[in-house]
Formats: sequence, structure tokens, C-alpha cells
Amino acid sequence: KQPDRIAVITGGNRGIGLRIVEKLLACDMTVVMGVRDPRSAETAVASIVDLKASKGKLICEQLDVGDLKSVDLLLNNAGIMFAPFKLTADGYESHFATNFLGHFLLSHLLLPQLRLAGREGKNARIVNVSSCVNLIGRINYKDINGTKHYYPGTAYSQSKLAQILFTRHLQTLLDADKSHVQVNVVHPGIVDTDLFEHSATTSVPIFKKLFFKTPERGSRTVVFAAIDPSVEGQGGTYLSNGGKGPF
Ligand code: NDP
Repeated sequence: KQPDRIAVITGGNRGIGLRIVEKLLACDMTVVMGVRDPRSAETAVASIVDLKASKGKLICEQLDVGDLKSVDLLLNNAGIMFAPFKLTADGYESHFATNFLGHFLLSHLLLPQLRLAGREGKNARIVNVSSCVNLIGRINYKDINGTKHYYPGTAYSQSKLAQILFTRHLQTLLDADKSHVQVNVVHPGIVDTDLFEHSATTSVPIFKKLFFKTPERGSRTVVFAAIDPSVEGQGGTYLSNGGKGPF
């Protein structure tokens, strides 16, 4: 028997995304692991615990959504921070393109399928992965002389703030046309992944030990928002710490 739930995860080949893939497979779903570079899929798949024991089905896609038929879960997880690719010195374009615009477009592309799944009573959901640093994105950086400063940290934070605003707006639209699709936005916690590769914090082992979650723990709130029945009816909300608290 084919699994009857289909989830799409962007950035599924490493970090938090890979652990989300692992958890949803353990729930016997069909999981589409969105990978940017197909060559990265092989190592990722090899690291999935209990893959053989799972009744779920794993599909690796180069984020080609053209063939998807009945998606009922979309996890917008892919993200970059201080990425080397920048069009301008502050990296505004690359942060917004990857962390927000790509997910905005993908969500709209998949909305017809998600609406269909919702109408069939399939508990259709979208989870946008934001960050607690969205709070910094709200601050207008001006120095003592009133000069405005803008740098990659601001671009990252504001792209994560955009995910929150988009989540609320989309839920309002979906509620207005009575689509049974729920959208939530989450902060996964501070997680020890490649995202912090260049950060001073991860290079100090004691900080890492004290403050950083493992990718598996980081995936928990995302999976909670995607499938936990207790979240039903809480669309448009920001969840963190397994849905229990601000961080
Ligand atoms: P990683 O750097 O470990 O993984 C990022 C993933 O995103 C990779 O799979 C990467 O693919 C993918 N990705 C990057 N750019 C693109 C792109 N243009 N198209 C498709 N996929 C892309 O990061 P995390 O697992 O830590 O981050 C996952 C999410 O969690 C991000 O949105 C991040 O902002 C958020 N987050 C993370 C926190 C943390 O503490 N780690 C804290 C708060 C939020 P590839 O391998 O091809 O580069």
C-alpha cells in the first residue's frame, strides 16, 4: 500500500531538514526531499536512520514541483545566512531570494494541490521555518549620528521576519476562501548545523555545548507544527520550543 500523505521539504539534504525527512519517513509518509544539488542526496540518504524499516517512501527531487500530484504538507525549511553569494555588499538579494521569495513562490505553486488535500480532509499544512532573530529584523539600525546601517545580519533577520508576515497573511487569505489549509511559522531553536559555520559562537566549544541543539532536536518543532493534532486550528501562529514557549 502506498503511503497516503505526501510531504515536501526544501533543503532536505542536511541540517534540520534532513532530520525532518527522517522523522516523517518514520511516520510512514511519502517524503519528497528537495535538494539543490542531486549529488548531495546520496550522502544524505545514507545517513537516514531506520530507512529500511520505514514503510514511507523517499523521493529526492531537484526541487522540481511540476510532477507533484497531491501534496498535503509543505515544509519551507531551506535557508542561508551570510552566504558567500551576494549581489550587493549587504547580501540583501540572496537572503531574501532563498529565505523568503523562493518559499513564497513554491507555496503559491503548490496551493492548488494543498487546497485539494484540505478539501479531502487530509489536514493540509504549510510550515515556514523562520528564526527568533526576526526580532532583530524589526529594529531600524541607526547609529548615534542617525546614519542607517544595513548588513547581512539585518538581511537574514528581515527575511525571517518576512516569513512570519507571509504566514499570517496567507492564513487570512486561506481562511477567507474556506480552504482547509493551515500555515504556521516556527523557530527551530539555536541548532548546531552548517548555517553557523562562520559564526564565532560555534567555534567556542562551551557555547556550542550549552546553547546549541542537535539537528534532531531542532527538527522537533517543525515536525510538531507539520503533523501534531494539538496544533490544529492554530493557523497563522509562531511556534517554538515544541510549540510550548517563545524559544
Ligand atoms: P543548513 O545550513 O544546515 O542547511 C540549509 C539547507 O538549505 C541545505 O539543505 C541547503 O542545501 C538548503 N539551501 C540553501 N540554499 C538553497 C537554495 N537556494 N535552494 C534550495 N535549498 C537551499 O541550515 P539549518 O538546517 O540550520 O537551517 C534550516 C532552516 O532553519 C533555515 O531556514 C534556517 O534559517 C533556520 N534556522 C536555523 C537555525 C539554526 O540555529 N541552525 C536557527 C533559526 C532558524 P545545500 O546543501 O544545497 O546548500
